[in-house]
Amino acid sequence: MEFWLILLAILGLNRVQGQIYGGSSYGAASGQAIRLGLITDDETDRIRQTFEHAISVANNELSVPLVGQTEQVSYGNSVQAFAQLCNMMQSGVGAVFGPAAKHTASHLLNACDSKDIPFVYPHLSGNAQADGFNLHPHQEDIANALYGIIKQFDWSRFIFCYESPEYLAILDHLMTLYGIKGPVIKVMRYDLNLNGNYKSVLRRIRKSEDSRIVVVGSREGVAELLRQAQQVGIMNEDYTYVIGNLDLHTFELEEYKYSEANITGIRMFSPDQEEVRDLVERLHQELGESEPADNGASTITMAMALTYDAVRVIAETTKHLPYQPQILNCSERHDNVQPDGSTFRNYMRSLEIKEKTITGRIFFEGNVRKGFTFDVIELQTSGLVKVGTWEEGQEFEFKRPAQVINFNDIDDGSLVNKTFKVLISVATKPYASLVDSIDTLIGNNQYQGYGVDLIKELADKLGFNFTFLDGGIDYGSFNKTTNTTTGMLKEIVEGRADLAITDLTITSEREEVIDFSIPFMNLGIAILYVKPQKAPPALFSFMDPFSEEVWLYLGIAYVGVSLCFFILGRLSPTEWDNPFPCIEEPEELENQFTINNSLWFTTGALLQQGSEIAPKSLSTRTIAAIWWFFTLIMVSSYTANLAAFLTIENPTSPINSVEDLADNKEGVQYGAKRTGSTRNFFLTSEDPIYMKMNEYMTNNPSMLLDNNQDGVEKVKSGNKYAFLMESTSIEFNTVRECNLTKVGDALDEKGYGIAMVKNWPYRDKFNNALLELQEQGVLARLKNKWWNEIGAGVCSAKSSSDGPSELGVDNLSGIYAVLAVGTIISIIFSIFCWCIFKKAKSYEVPFCDALVEEFKIVIRFSENERALKSAQSVYSRSRNSSHSIESLKTDSEENMPPEEAD
Ligand code: GLU
Repeated sequence: MEFWLILLAILGLNRVQGQIYGGSSYGAASGQAIRLGLITDDETDRIRQTFEHAISVANNELSVPLVGQTEQVSYGNSVQAFAQLCNMMQSGVGAVFGPAAKHTASHLLNACDSKDIPFVYPHLSGNAQADGFNLHPHQEDIANALYGIIKQFDWSRFIFCYESPEYLAILDHLMTLYGIKGPVIKVMRYDLNLNGNYKSVLRRIRKSEDSRIVVVGSREGVAELLRQAQQVGIMNEDYTYVIGNLDLHTFELEEYKYSEANITGIRMFSPDQEEVRDLVERLHQELGESEPADNGASTITMAMALTYDAVRVIAETTKHLPYQPQILNCSERHDNVQPDGSTFRNYMRSLEIKEKTITGRIFFEGNVRKGFTFDVIELQTSGLVKVGTWEEGQEFEFKRPAQVINFNDIDDGSLVNKTFKVLISVATKPYASLVDSIDTLIGNNQYQGYGVDLIKELADKLGFNFTFLDGGIDYGSFNKTTNTTTGMLKEIVEGRADLAITDLTITSEREEVIDFSIPFMNLGIAILYVKPQKAPPALFSFMDPFSEEVWLYLGIAYVGVSLCFFILGRLSPTEWDNPFPCIEEPEELENQFTINNSLWFTTGALLQQGSEIAPKSLSTRTIAAIWWFFTLIMVSSYTANLAAFLTIENPTSPINSVEDLADNKEGVQYGAKRTGSTRNFFLTSEDPIYMKMNEYMTNNPSMLLDNNQDGVEKVKSGNKYAFLMESTSIEFNTVRECNLTKVGDALDEKGYGIAMVKNWPYRDKFNNALLELQEQGVLARLKNKWWNEIGAGVCSAKSSSDGPSELGVDNLSGIYAVLAVGTIISIIFSIFCWCIFKKAKSYEVPFCDALVEEFKIVIRFSENERALKSAQSVYSRSRNSSHSIESLKTDSEENMPPEEAD
């Protein structure tokens, strides 16, 4: 087998096994070219491309060309890698570039070491391998750079977040640099092997008091940590990250640009370097990789840069040191080594190269690379910006450049003749709607509304053109966890629209991904519900003019004054009268103020009717006068109040506040717009009432509706449903729907703004124009037009025609009832009970016969005369014969009450 391999190598047929390039002749063993082997596990082919590119660049200056041979192996497959190394040895390789997998690399290093073949590895290594050749800065130097940055930040405490134990050397060195008086360092490990889930560590960071984090780890690990940090919510202005990985510039940082988190790191090369640009160009040609517009370096990793530079070092070495690698057999253990291998490797380390490298100056102190510098970079909205240079032995200081505004098309900042795509929601009156027209309208003419008018006003002021697009009913939200946007927000974030105008509430969540103008309207969440229904008047509403106490005291006064009349009447001699005026010397005197008459007198006065009883003595007249005065005032007050109380129909509503709604008082259900800021308000609120309401809405998704119009319809249907809506929209609807009203006060205060792309360069101009429109009263005029003029007036017209309403039976039913009851009582009193009973007794007839006879007389309406109790009457028929008619007459007259005698 070995024989055949050697033969193949000599014949140049080993191209079949790998890829060989760089020169026309590859027979290193023949002394004409130096073969470099690359064993790579990079599946993107970018390391190989870099390797090839570096060789072809180097060969331009070399008399003895370099020849590259690449073998692709699977990541971590040491056996396969070793087999490829043996192949290379058998073809006379002069130096070998190892793969990224660290265990495989150290395995190959040992194998190369035993054969004195220079081995190059392009990644961070815990200890400077005596025999390998590593251009990656040593961990101590990374620690030195981090120390310089942290010192500039002047932190008194921070979290040191590391991926695996090999990075602890950085922490060790940091602590050595600080000594015992250093800041408090909390050490946390995140581990890529734990299913790549760092969230528990990140949540601990969020809960801790620390917000300054130093992160060290592999390129993949650190990038993932940052991504998850954003999901956990610690990628914001409160947090500062210092990244100790030299590949920060290759991370996908776009989404953190606007997070306002401070992300600082280090890099070894700038995207502007010629070597970097050439390499990017090569990748573009060979792999079709697109060239990043602003930052070419973002595709060039440290592994690629160090591969390129290692080829450069080898090329430089070959200029000074003749090197003729020999064919070796990896299975032979003794004396079968590369004769000039160790000399070549030592010479590589003794060189100082200042030019034509990607990572800067190269020279070694022992096995450790020195003399390089780091660019300290910071993430700003324009991308990664260099904010200083770290150099060994120098105190690091930030040197931030003046903020560069990176809007290529901002030109003079004027909006004249620019055209913007403006999102509206045509289903949301009065902000936008379709114009009703028999003609077919196209373009902007199709739309009308407050928002449409406002954009037109702004366009008149600023000179821009606009195209309206219907953005639908979902205004959108930003989900921090999944880092996704929806609805109109998404359209703006993804650049399909420039502006959005509708009832779009300014919220902090939306502000994270877009910007808003100053608010053009202020509002708060309130409740839309049907107007309170009129309650039927109470039966005894005529009692309402006086309170219960007044009625009670009036009753007491009535009884008291009647008693006074009775007593004073008896005490006053003047009130004792001669019952028979013809008899001058009467034996008896009579007093008119009996209990009955006293009560009757006060009743007559109270009801303003008077009576035939006239007080005569001074005392009774005095009290009579006072009682009349009292009753005058009482009756006047009662009359004055009566009309109002009879006509009042107290409207009642089951809900009067948000608390009633939260309690579902009287079974009232409620909801809000499903995707709006109102729903979000309840989702994020920590107020117990709103949390309770949120729970209700979450458990009853059918109560959530697609848009405000659906809410209005549902409330109108009157099925005990209330809709949580913004006050301006409520105002608009209640002017048009007369049976709807706003219940309670607003729950919060906020505003509507015009949404625009984050950091939109014309934002200030827009805000100024909006302010001017506000000061000139244009905003108020537009609001009045769309709220109170167009389509309004329905309810106000109706109410103006409402005159004073007549009193119905309902209003007066109580007084009819009193009349009826009084009449019945008096009839019972006068006819059926008392007199009949007396008569029946006096004539000694059965009560029932007397009652029937009396009733017959009463209902005989044709006769207006009645005989005094005669022989024909029942009394005589029923009486026993011993009574004479004469005696009956006498008895009858004696016992007859005065009124019956009439
Ligand atoms: N103004 C709300 C928003 O911007 C929509 C209506 C609502 O949620 O009540 O999402």
